[in-house]
Amino acid sequence: MAGDILVYVEHDGPQPRHLALETVSKAAEVTEAHGGQVIAAVLGGGADGTIERLGRFGADTVYQDAGPVFDDYLTEPAVEYVAALIAETNPTAILLPYTQDGKDIGSRLSARLSAGAVANVVNVLENNGRLDAIETVFGGNYSDTVEVERSPLAILLVRANAFTAEEHPRQPAVKQMAFEPSEAAKRAQVGRRVQEEGTPTPIEEAQIIVSGGRGLGGPEPFGLLEELAGELGGVVGASRAAVDAGWISYPHQVGQTGRTVKPQLYMAIGISGAVQHRVGMQTADTIIAVNRDKDAPIFQLADLAVVGDLFQIVPALTEEIKRRKGGAT
Ligand SMILES: Cc1cc2nc3c(=O)[nH]c(=O)nc-3n(C[C@H](O)[C@H](O)[C@H](O)COP(=O)(O)OP(=O)(O)OC[C@H]3O[C@@H](n4cnc5c(N)ncnc54)[C@H](O)[C@@H]3O)c2cc1C
Repeated sequence: MAGDILVYVEHDGPQPRHLALETVSKAAEVTEAHGGQVIAAVLGGGADGTIERLGRFGADTVYQDAGPVFDDYLTEPAVEYVAALIAETNPTAILLPYTQDGKDIGSRLSARLSAGAVANVVNVLENNGRLDAIETVFGGNYSDTVEVERSPLAILLVRANAFTAEEHPRQPAVKQMAFEPSEAAKRAQVGRRVQEEGTPTPIEEAQIIVSGGRGLGGPEPFGLLEELAGELGGVVGASRAAVDAGWISYPHQVGQTGRTVKPQLYMAIGISGAVQHRVGMQTADTIIAVNRDKDAPIFQLADLAVVGDLFQIVPALTEEIKRRKGGAT
């Protein structure tokens, strides 16, 4: 018996984030095989629409609290709520997203409950009624299995695209828990929100990504990638070298210290293929690399390796796609 698994859900109003669906789906897979229930926690307003989708992907119970305190204050009220929900439901493990908020909540819960926390989780395994985590370490070069031994609860922070979101249809019970945040939880209030410049679709959720690296030589050539991505219905990504140079903003960064992506098509343009980049994109279904260096490490990973100058290849490719879309043969 694996015990119940609690999943902390991030959402954009009525839409659960894709990572939440991936995580609920994985929890459903584990509990179907080993017993237990999947409990989802959804905090903040405007989230009624999430319930149907969470049920479709495997949530047995959804605890919902639309209190404005979760929108108006920083993470402390969420930490208090989740700690109280853990006391109420007594799960074996809580799965949180490995995002800024998830890390904040997970680390505070770990201190508050003296519970073991594991970051960078890419898989979970049932082990004699407990949930072990597989985490990646050393820039994705190795992975290891972590058993949380000293606390009954395991706090696991899950990377995006580690699991596939598969449907496990349920009719979830919707529950409310009496909750009043402490005054201490209301010390830090959200002053204003700014929209981070990024891709139209969060890059972790994009199915086609055209990424550029140092080989582009500056910010302007990213326009070429925008055009190609636009024709393909995709978004633009980047290596850290391009982001660090200030050519494109951080939400585009793919890799160990950026986002982990799993698109159908990943194009690496002028990117050498350092391990820290590869760890963020190596599970893409199809990888096409364009590089003028025939020995670039990215080619070891590529399904299609194009050796040549990106400034010739990318515009020619975009033109060819336009021509074919126009119906010419
Ligand atoms: C702790 C840590 C975390 C890191 N995290 C990340 C991360 O999240 N993501 C990430 O990407 N990196 C990360 N890095 C950095 C990583 O090690 C590499 O430095 C980085 O990925 C290199 O970026 P690049 O491939 O764009 O640049 P380079 O390695 O300089 O490669 C540029 C490539 O462009 C090719 N090129 C040049 N001109 C042309 C042309 N005209 N046509 C075609 N090809 C051309 C070159 O042949 C070369 O292969 C991290 C490093 C550390 C230490």
